[in-house]
Amino acid sequence: MKKFKILAMLLCCFFVFGGCAEKREEAQEMLSKYSEEDLHEMTTFAMDTVMQFTLYNENGEQLLTDAEQEIRRLERLFSVTMEDSEIARLNEQSGLGEVSLSEDTLKVLKRGKEIGELTNQAFNITISPVVKAWGFTTDGEKHVPSQETLESLLPLTKIDDLKIDEHTLTAELLKKGMAVDLGGIAKGYTSDAVTTLLKEKGVTSGLIYLGGNISAIGTKPNGENWKVAIENPLDTNDYVGILEVQDCSVITSGGYQRYFEENGKRYHHIIDSNTGYPADKGLLSVTIISKDGTKADGLSTALFVMGLDEALDLWRNSDDFEAVFITDDGKAIATEGAAAFFTFEGRDNDFVYETVER
Ligand code: ADP
Ligand code: MG
Repeated sequence: MKKFKILAMLLCCFFVFGGCAEKREEAQEMLSKYSEEDLHEMTTFAMDTVMQFTLYNENGEQLLTDAEQEIRRLERLFSVTMEDSEIARLNEQSGLGEVSLSEDTLKVLKRGKEIGELTNQAFNITISPVVKAWGFTTDGEKHVPSQETLESLLPLTKIDDLKIDEHTLTAELLKKGMAVDLGGIAKGYTSDAVTTLLKEKGVTSGLIYLGGNISAIGTKPNGENWKVAIENPLDTNDYVGILEVQDCSVITSGGYQRYFEENGKRYHHIIDSNTGYPADKGLLSVTIISKDGTKADGLSTALFVMGLDEALDLWRNSDDFEAVFITDDGKAIATEGAAAFFTFEGRDNDFVYETVER
């Protein structure tokens, strides 16, 4: 189980990056009326992961209930394991015609397709038949599927065969046996939805943790940035550094989070749809920092599949995210925007720190 790794230490910060962090002097001017007395916290389990909420507000208890209800609502739409979810209905109808869906489900499908296009299909929400063949979405035994099985399933993972019609509010999987899996994007979308809801209700200071997906609302009540640790993929009780952020999402994907071993080899849950095998491009984890949590979630999965070089090409052609990569040869690599608010602390664990320029 993933551990709650948010460090709420009181440190000074002087970092600036695209709105995700501000200079301390500016932050100080935004001192809120809230104090530790207004602190409300909740832990729950949803979307197959531990979720934790921290917020500062006089109506904290009610707001936490609202947040949890919103998460349960979206889970009932997006889950692949709940038999009556909208995604389960869409999958069941594969090859049989279109299915009416809610706006949320259509929106997340659309965002999934967009991130697929942006990443040359490294992000692929129709990867489900292959993920299932490995046993990752079921409670059953996980195992390496035969080459034959993978070859028969890969043709069912073509994103163009997922049709979305926003006018009629329908979607369709064209081939029998196709299936959508929102595991790589649902938590990001949900964190955006919950953040929006809480902000609309007046929350100015909070931190939402949806199993590895962190969304910061405003700053801490004293005006300081939130501090988020990036886990050491080789030892999740440890971390390689700390990001200081406000009002943005920090989302990590890595092969160390869900995996099994067979014949002494480790197989994880992020699949390269070119091969049908777990992605193996030299990365242990990818952390994305962005205002757009949905995109950050999709990209953390996609850039992990793409590997460092391709990921940096995409970063250089984008202006709406920054990233920190941990490589399998012991490097922590921050894009220049991320480096501005990242404190590297992995030296003692033999990580080497590098930054990359645009
Ligand atoms: P986590 O859910 O552990 O935080 P990710 O956001 O990286 O991690 O999502 C991984 C999940 O996404 C997998 O469990 C699977 O459901 C799905 N998935 C696996 N490979 C891909 C892929 N190439 N594109 C999109 N989704 C994927
Ligand atoms: Mg993801």
